[in-house]
Amino acid sequence: MRRRGEHRLQGTGISAGAAVGPVFRLDRGRRKPAGESAGTPAEELSRFEEARKRAKQALTDLSRRAGAAVGGDEGQLFETHALMLEDPDLLEGIQAAISGGSPAERAVEQVLEGFALEMEHLNDPYMSMRAADLRDVKGRLLALLWGETRQIQPDCPSIVAADELMPSDTIQLDRRLVLAFVTRVGGADCHAAILARAMGIPAVSGVDLSMWSGETDLTAAVDGCTGEVVLYPDQAAEDDFAARRQLDRRQQEELWAYAGQPTRTRDGAEVLLCCNIGSPEDAKEAAAVGGEGVGLFRSEFLYLGRQQLSTEEEQLSAYRAVLETMPDRPVVVRTLDLGADKQVPGLSMGAEENPALGLRGIRLCLERPQVFRTQLRALYRASVYGRLHIMFPMIASCWELEEALEHCCAVRSQLAAEGLAFRSDVPLGIMIETPAAVLTAEELARKADFFSIGTNDLTQYLTACDRQNGAVSRYADPHHPALLRAIRHTVECAHRSGIRAGICGELAADQSLTQTFLEMGVDELSVSPARLLELRRDISRLTLNRD
Ligand code: PEP
Ligand code: MG
Repeated sequence: MRRRGEHRLQGTGISAGAAVGPVFRLDRGRRKPAGESAGTPAEELSRFEEARKRAKQALTDLSRRAGAAVGGDEGQLFETHALMLEDPDLLEGIQAAISGGSPAERAVEQVLEGFALEMEHLNDPYMSMRAADLRDVKGRLLALLWGETRQIQPDCPSIVAADELMPSDTIQLDRRLVLAFVTRVGGADCHAAILARAMGIPAVSGVDLSMWSGETDLTAAVDGCTGEVVLYPDQAAEDDFAARRQLDRRQQEELWAYAGQPTRTRDGAEVLLCCNIGSPEDAKEAAAVGGEGVGLFRSEFLYLGRQQLSTEEEQLSAYRAVLETMPDRPVVVRTLDLGADKQVPGLSMGAEENPALGLRGIRLCLERPQVFRTQLRALYRASVYGRLHIMFPMIASCWELEEALEHCCAVRSQLAAEGLAFRSDVPLGIMIETPAAVLTAEELARKADFFSIGTNDLTQYLTACDRQNGAVSRYADPHHPALLRAIRHTVECAHRSGIRAGICGELAADQSLTQTFLEMGVDELSVSPARLLELRRDISRLTLNRD
C-alpha cells in the first residue's frame, strides 16, 4: 500500500476539463484464460454448477426487474436465457467435457459456441437470434467463472478510475455521477475517449492507479487538458484545480455567442459544420449549439451496454427522433460499426486474434445480412421524417459497397411491396477510413453519393498503430504527411466525381488543421457538439490562401 500524501502523476489529457473528488475504481475483474490452473473434474463441475446457479438467479432477477420496468419483451428475453441454463443437451455436453478433463471455462466456451455455430449454419433468422442468445448466456457464465465484477456505477459524484474503459461501460455511466475518467490504457482516438468528450467529461489516460488499489478514501484532482492527476490533493491543489474548472466553464459560456451564427471564414468561405452524435439525446445538444446537420450518427452506440440489438421499431423511433430534432438539416446515420472495441454480447462473433483487422463495420453487416437489413428497413422507414443520409463504415473494396447497395435496393423493394412509406432518394455514402479506400477513391466516388473521412481509423491503419493502445500514441501522429496527403487525395477524387467530402474523425476538431482542410476544399467538418462552438469561432477568424 502507498503512503498517504499528495502525489503527482502525469498522463495524457484526452478530454478537456478539470475535476476534484473521490476516486471510484471501476473494477472489471480479472480474466482467467480457459485451461489455466484447472482443478480436478469434480472441482470444475462444482465451479460450473455454482456459476450456473448464480447466472440463473441473476437472469431471474433481471427478468422480474425488466418486466416491471418495461413489461413484455425484455423480461421474456431474460427468461429465455434462464431456460437455456436448464437445457439437458447443453448441460450434458458441458458435464461430459468437464468429466473428460476440460476446465469449466473451456467446456462452456466449446459446447455453447458449438451449438451457436450449428444454429447459425441453419441460415434461419430465428435460429440466428437464438445463437446470439446462446452467446449471451455463454458470456454471462464465463464472466462468473472468471470472477468478473461488473459494478460500474459510483454511488456519489466521483472520478472513475479504470485500467481500460470499454465504450459499453462508458455509455452506461450516469454522467451526473462521473466527474472525470482516469485510465491506464486508451489513446485519444479510442471510443471511450470520444464518448468522454461527447459527454463533456474530463479524462486522462496513461495513469496507473493500481498501486493505490488498497486505499478506500483516495481522492484526486484531474486536468483533462494538461493530463495532470494529483492524488490526495492538499488544499492549495484543490483550489488550483477548482479554479481551472471555473475558468473552463466561463470560456464555454462565452462561446455560446456563436450558437446562432453561420459558419464562415473572414473572407466569406463556407463549410458545413455538423455534429457527431451517438443518441437522440445528443441530437438535442447538436441542435442547441447550432449544428448545421449531423455528420455522423454512430448508430452502434444505441446498442452498446445492451445484451441484444434493438428491434426494427426501436431503431425506427431513435432515427425518427434524431431526424425530427434536426428538421431540414442533413442527418448522416452510419450503419452498425460494431466489432473491435465495440461489442454487443448478443452479436458476439467469437474471439479474434486482431479484432481491429477483423470482422468489424460493414464486414460484420455483410456477414449478418439479417441484422443489416433490419437496420436498413428502420432507416428507410425513418427517411420520411427528414433529410436522411445513410453511410457505410470500413469500406475497403468496391464490391463491399456494391453488396451494401444491393441490400438497400432489396429493402426498398420489400418496403414498397409491403406498402410502407420511404424515400427512394436517400443519399448513400461511405466512410473513407481504410488505406485501400483512399487508394481506390476514384472508383468509389463513382458509386457513392458522398464521402466522409474517418481520420481515427485512417490514422490507425496508415500508421499501423492500434488506436486503443496509449503506448503507441506517439507513433500514431494525426499530422503525419501520409494522412494529410490521403485526405487531399480523397477530396480531389470526390470533387472530380461531383460528390462532397467531409471529415468526421476527431481530426475535424483540430484547430491547427482547420485552415489546411478548408484550403484543401473539405466540404464539411463534423465534430462533437462540445467542440462545435469553439471551432465556429476559430473559422470566423480565418482568411484562406486561395490560388
Ligand atoms: C473514424 O474512424 O474516424 C470514425 C469517425 O469512426 P469511429 O471513430 O467510430 O471508428
Ligand atoms: Mg472508424
